[in-house]
Amino acid sequence: MPIARRTTILCISLSLSLTSAAQQKPSPLSPYVKEDALVLVLEHVRLIDGTGSAPQQDMRIDIAGGKITAVQAASAHSPYPPNAKVLEMTGKTVIPGLVGMHEHLFYPTPQQPQGGVALYGEAADSAPRLYLAGGVTTARTAGSLEPYTDLELKREIDAGLLPGPKLDVTGPYLEGKGSFAVQMHTLADADDAARTVDYWAAEGVTSFKAYNYLTADELKAAIGHAHAHGLKITGHLCSIGFRQAAALGIDNLEHGLSVDTEFFPGKKPDECPGFLANLTYVEKNVDVEGPEVRETIRDLVAHHVAITSTLAVIETFGSNRPPMERESAALKTLSPQAAKEYLVGRSHAAELDMAGPMLGKEMRFEREFVAAGGLLMAGCDPTGYGGVVPGFGDQRNIELLVEAGFSPVEAIRIATLNAAIYLGRDASIGSIAPGKAADLVVLGGNPAEKIENLEKVELVFKDGVGFDPAKLIQSVTELVGLR
Ligand SMILES: [Zn+2]
Repeated sequence: MPIARRTTILCISLSLSLTSAAQQKPSPLSPYVKEDALVLVLEHVRLIDGTGSAPQQDMRIDIAGGKITAVQAASAHSPYPPNAKVLEMTGKTVIPGLVGMHEHLFYPTPQQPQGGVALYGEAADSAPRLYLAGGVTTARTAGSLEPYTDLELKREIDAGLLPGPKLDVTGPYLEGKGSFAVQMHTLADADDAARTVDYWAAEGVTSFKAYNYLTADELKAAIGHAHAHGLKITGHLCSIGFRQAAALGIDNLEHGLSVDTEFFPGKKPDECPGFLANLTYVEKNVDVEGPEVRETIRDLVAHHVAITSTLAVIETFGSNRPPMERESAALKTLSPQAAKEYLVGRSHAAELDMAGPMLGKEMRFEREFVAAGGLLMAGCDPTGYGGVVPGFGDQRNIELLVEAGFSPVEAIRIATLNAAIYLGRDASIGSIAPGKAADLVVLGGNPAEKIENLEKVELVFKDGVGFDPAKLIQSVTELVGLR
């Protein structure tokens, strides 16, 4: 019976989709689109262009066919292009669409039974919408648990069938023996690593991520094969220290100093001393301003290894972070069970304060890395014990970069142009300039004055189409943790 019923449902849905295709229905995105004129003028905006330069007051941005065609002072009073729709935006700030570099399309699944496995549910509905609503117009998925789903989502988003950012889909986690997650394939050896990279490159993923328990031989094979396909590879490593990974040719390292195991006493080759053991050691004993860390930074910069800042997830392991009032909007997107479990996790974190001092250390490390010429990028990493929500977490990460001591325009550059440069796509995304894609975030306030104004997203343009963040968020109320 269940089989027969399934067939019937499948036939019905097939015929429904054929009918709708034939009828040329309006775009499935239209419920979320606020501005879709082909030619637009954003008039009298404050411009933060993503390069790190000071905000420019009273500017005008012209958009046509999804691209920025002109950026000029409003006072020049140049004639408007024919058929332009002019949006009066006095008091608003326009920044580039965020280029998020640690943007998983999954979230911890609640209700793990006693003795059950750690499991992450694909957030196929909520994550793409919330990234876009938060101003993320390009996202690298930084490790996939359902690579085929991520690739299909990308295809649907690119075809204009689903709302979401431009995706750089990362292949499945490249993980060795010892993994905590049953959703990750355990690589057998270096040949398996090479084969896995070749297979997923052929399937269409555009980046890779190496994980905790990979051996140096496996990482070497993965890097070689990723590079042979012209693709980059990042890592959240444990069995391999930062300098060893840099020597092997890795392109990027996630999270920063808290996961670098090279300083751990008695660290054995290809062995992970444990995430918490290492974090505790680094927190207590490693001096960010000392000669050892300085040498690591110098080495990473010399090898052109970028770092991805994920302060938003690191802070959740500290006490009362982020402040509760900051969490109210994100909490509404969580399923009731996910919200409940996040609050329990939060109170445990407050008791243990596992990452309180580490957060400050990580911030100083990121500042030193940039001061030494390193390329720092950012992403939200919606994992941990929950509560780091796509989009909201990306804004929070930029706020934490400012808390770390970067100026607001520097922090915005880290989350936009720096990532575009890393991706080799800075000719088309990452800053606001003529010829680039019209990927823009309109804010109802000035983040250069108060970085929290980043949360006041009023409109998100992707390729010149203006999405309504409130409608995107509303459409996934209470769905995070569920789907
Ligand atoms: Zn991650």
